[in-house]
Amino acid sequence: MKESGSPKLGGVVEVTSSDTSAKLNVDEYATSPPNQERMGFPKQGGQSLSYWLQQVRCDPLLDHRTTPELPREADTVIIGSGITGTLVAKHHLQTWPSKSIVVLEAREFCSGATGRNAGHCKPDQWRHFAKLEKAFGAEQALKIQQNEKETWQALVQYVKDNGVDCDLWVGQTIDVPLDDETAGIAASIFEAIKKAGANTEHIQVITDPTEAAKMSRLKNAKACYAWPASTLQPWKLVAHIMRSNLEQGVNLQTYTTALSVVRAPSPRKWIVQTDRGDIICDTVVHATNAYIAAVEPSLRGIITPKPHMCNKVVPPRSWSGSKALQNSYGVLLPNGALFSINPRCTSDGVVMFGGSNPGQKQLDDWVEQHPEQGTDDGLARIESVTKYVREMVEREFEGWNDEEIGPGEGFEYSWSGIIGLSADGVPFVGPLPGKDGQWVCAGHHGHGMARTFTAAPGLVKMINGQSWNETGLPDVYQLTEERLNDLKGASEAPRVAVV
Ligand SMILES: Cc1cc2nc3c(=O)[nH]c(=O)nc-3n(C[C@H](O)[C@H](O)[C@H](O)COP(=O)(O)OP(=O)(O)OC[C@H]3O[C@@H](n4cnc5c(N)ncnc54)[C@H](O)[C@@H]3O)c2cc1C
Repeated sequence: MKESGSPKLGGVVEVTSSDTSAKLNVDEYATSPPNQERMGFPKQGGQSLSYWLQQVRCDPLLDHRTTPELPREADTVIIGSGITGTLVAKHHLQTWPSKSIVVLEAREFCSGATGRNAGHCKPDQWRHFAKLEKAFGAEQALKIQQNEKETWQALVQYVKDNGVDCDLWVGQTIDVPLDDETAGIAASIFEAIKKAGANTEHIQVITDPTEAAKMSRLKNAKACYAWPASTLQPWKLVAHIMRSNLEQGVNLQTYTTALSVVRAPSPRKWIVQTDRGDIICDTVVHATNAYIAAVEPSLRGIITPKPHMCNKVVPPRSWSGSKALQNSYGVLLPNGALFSINPRCTSDGVVMFGGSNPGQKQLDDWVEQHPEQGTDDGLARIESVTKYVREMVEREFEGWNDEEIGPGEGFEYSWSGIIGLSADGVPFVGPLPGKDGQWVCAGHHGHGMARTFTAAPGLVKMINGQSWNETGLPDVYQLTEERLNDLKGASEAPRVAVV
C-alpha cells in the first residue's frame, strides 16, 4: 500500500494498493480485519458530512440537550443516539413509561453510521445464505433471512403508521451478477436456499442475460434476482423516533462522550463517567456499535471499527427524468466486490453508491497499516474508491456519457462512516457477562438497517426479564459468555461479508 503524493480534492490523498485476490462476493468477501485490536471513540472535529447530514443543518435536534446540565441520576443510560439507541429508548418508554432515560451522544445527534449509510433497508433473502449456512447451519441461516424480512416490514410499517417524512421508497431491489462465474454461484446459492426449504415465491429470478439486461438496465447483466426492499433518508427516520421519545420524557445529551462505566454504591448499580460529569443509574445500554470497545474493553477484537465509503452521484440528463433509475440494486462483480445502488426514487433522484466496492478493499488495507484511522469518518472524496463506481457506471449504464457532463452532475462527493464489524458477522444482543445491568445491542456488520428494528425491541424484552425465545431473534445473535470466549479463542474468525 502506498499513498500517492498528489493531494486530491479536499486535500485527501489517493490510496492505492496492489490488487488482492478477492473471490466472489456472493460467496465470500473478506471483511474480518487481520488486526482486530482496533478501537476508538468517535472522532471529534473534521468529520465528513454525509448527504443525509448535509440536508438537516438547521435542525435543532443535531445539538439538542434536553437539560443544560447533565442529569446526575437516571434509571437507564443509553450510550449512542443512532438507530439502535433511539429504538431502545422508544421500546424502553413503552415498557416502563415512568422510568427515566438519558441518551448520550458524543457528537451531533445520529451522526454515526446511521447518519452516514447508503440508505438501504434491504433484507437479504438469498445471497448470503451459503456463507451463513457454512458459519451457523441452514436453520439459523434461514432464520436470519426471515428476521431480516420481518425487520424490513417493521420499519416500513412504522414509517407508514406514523407518516414519517423520510423519503421512504418501497419497491423491487435487484441483485445483478455481471459475469458468468458470479451468475453461476448465484444460481447455486438460490438452488441451495430452495432446497433448504425457504419460501422464495417473492423473489423474481431471470437467468436469461438479454432479459436480465433489459430488466436491470445494466449492459452486462447475466441474471436478476428481484424482491421487495426499501430505501430511505435514515437520519430523518431516526430523528422522528427521537422527537417522539423526547415528548415522552427522554433526556438527550448530545456532545457528551461516555468514557467508562464503573460500579456505583448501592442501591444504584453503575456510574457512567462522561466528559461532562457522572450519571448514576441501574441500567446501561451500549448502543455504540463500532465504538463499543472504547468504553467496554472486553469487546475489543469482538466488534471492530472500519471506515466505509459512500458515493453520491448526480445522474446526468441521459439518466434523469423519465430515464431515471427506478429500482435499488446490488451489483455483483467478478472480482468479489459489490455495489449497492440507492437511486432515491421518491425524492431528488440523487444516486447513492455504497457496498464493498473494490476500492473499499484497498482502503481497508490502508487502514490496517494506519490503525489510528479505524474510527476516522473524516475521510472523503477517496478517489481510489470513487474510480470503481465511475468505471462501473460508465461501462454498464448505456449512454451515461453521451452528452457532455455539466457542472453539478456526476461523481460529486463521497464520505465515510464507521462500520462495526462483528467477529462472526452477526450482531451481539444481550447482557454483558459479569456486569449485571449492562446490556449490548451492537456489531451490526454494515447491515444494521435490516437488523435494528427487531434487535432493539428484542434487547428491551431481555432487559424486562423475558427469555431469548421471546425476542424472536436468530439464536446466533445472542450475546453469551460462551460465544465471546469462542470468538476470543478462535485463530481466525468466520468471514461474513458486509452488504
Ligand atoms: C458508509 C456506510 C454505508 C452503510 N450502508 C448501509 C446500508 O445501506 N444498509 C444497511 O443496512 N446498513 C448500512 N450501513 C450500516 C448501518 O449504517 C449500521 O449498521 C447502523 O447504522 C448501526 O446503527 P447503530 O445505531 O447501532 O450505530 P451508529 O449509528 O454508529 O450509532 C452509534 C452512536 O453512538 C455514538 N457513540 C459512540 N461511542 C460513544 C460514546 N463513548 N459516548 C457517546 N456516544 C457514543 C456515536 O457517535 C454514534 O452516533 C452502512 C454503514 C456505513 C458506514
